[in-house]
Amino acid sequence: MSTVDRSGLQALSAEATTLLRTLDSVLESWGTDAGAASMIMPPLLPVESLARLDFYENFPHQALVVSPLDLAKREPGARPAHFDPDALLPASLGLPSAACFAVYLYHEGRALPGNTTVTVLGRCFRREEGYQDLRRLIGFHMREIVAMGTREFVQQHLDRFGARIADFITALDLPFRKEAATDPFYDRGGQRALLQRLSPVKHEFVVDDLAIASLNVHRNFFGERCDISLAGEPIFTSCVAFGLERWLSVLHKRYGSWPAATEAVRNTRGEVAA
Ligand code: AMP
Ligand code: ZN
Repeated sequence: MSTVDRSGLQALSAEATTLLRTLDSVLESWGTDAGAASMIMPPLLPVESLARLDFYENFPHQALVVSPLDLAKREPGARPAHFDPDALLPASLGLPSAACFAVYLYHEGRALPGNTTVTVLGRCFRREEGYQDLRRLIGFHMREIVAMGTREFVQQHLDRFGARIADFITALDLPFRKEAATDPFYDRGGQRALLQRLSPVKHEFVVDDLAIASLNVHRNFFGERCDISLAGEPIFTSCVAFGLERWLSVLHKRYGSWPAATEAVRNTRGEVAA
């Protein structure tokens, strides 16, 4: 990795793929050990559904959508480098920017029988101002462990996994800091940013100036928007998110090779402080 790649599109070598799978199976098992259902969500989500979750209000700068071609505008034999908007049909599907949106949409309209945990590995997509190697990609893998239920349950979820992540990163010998984060999109002086600073809704684990995992609370926002209830009340939700390519990047830097990093993850597994 001597030259910096700024395309945002990266293939993983076989050895890097092994590390990603090894790491992901550790994180998935943290979820399933805590009773999470391990599920697979659709790769695209309806624009209309993401709009209902305020995605295009809060993160318009990250959004990417998918359009079919307008076959009436097709030029046979052309080899285009891009399609102009007028060659496309309306975009009614969006690429998800986080893995947990699909989990709330899946549970839409349901009454949960009790506190519920779900874990998913999503491919997530974000338009960024710039891309860099595995550190900032247009498409990347996000493992999430999502809690849905009472206010206390979703807070305990973050306390439990926050401690576990800290122990795991320490055992992997990666210097880190944990910090409260605000969403960059919100105007820093605005009401919403002020509210976030007073009562942080997001904490990040930062290694080498890179957020490799985040803890997020959403109060009962998704419970209300998706009409998910527990004992007649909208559920509270929280999620723990891991950007796997970023873990690969910091682990490769620390251990010097993919196999050495994979060995370190295998030997550690985060089986501390369950
Ligand atoms: P967030 O929902 O912003 O907390 O994102 C969850 C995790 O995804 C972050 O902690 C990062 O590890 C990872 N992540 C976010 N954006 C990118 C990106 N453009 N490229 C690679 N990983 C990312
Ligand atoms: Zn999430």
